[in-house]
Amino acid sequence: MKELFREQDITRVSYYQSILEDYGIPTMIRNEYLTGSGLTEIPIAEFFPALCVLHDEDYLRAVAIIRENLTINQKRVECEITCVSCGEINPGNFEICWSCGELCGPS
Ligand SMILES: [Zn+2]
Repeated sequence: MKELFREQDITRVSYYQSILEDYGIPTMIRNEYLTGSGLTEIPIAEFFPALCVLHDEDYLRAVAIIRENLTINQKRVECEITCVSCGEINPGNFEICWSCGELCGPS
């Protein structure tokens, strides 16, 4: 058994568990019943629900599947700005170029 990731939010952990099971990868959640019991008021990573694959040989495939789904769910940076003075690409919310310090955002 190998741990994939752990997170405080059990709903996200079970969400990824159901995705993996759709792919036919047997998984289990460790610490599923520890949080929410009132005993862990302070978030301690040790007690977070952890998603594990039952068979080590499924691990790499499971990681790839999770990654794929992460990129789908992640909000993409709205737009990117190319700095006029050095040509470096900055995220759209940057006003100052991270590379040369020139003003690069929309004025
Ligand atoms: Zn620049």
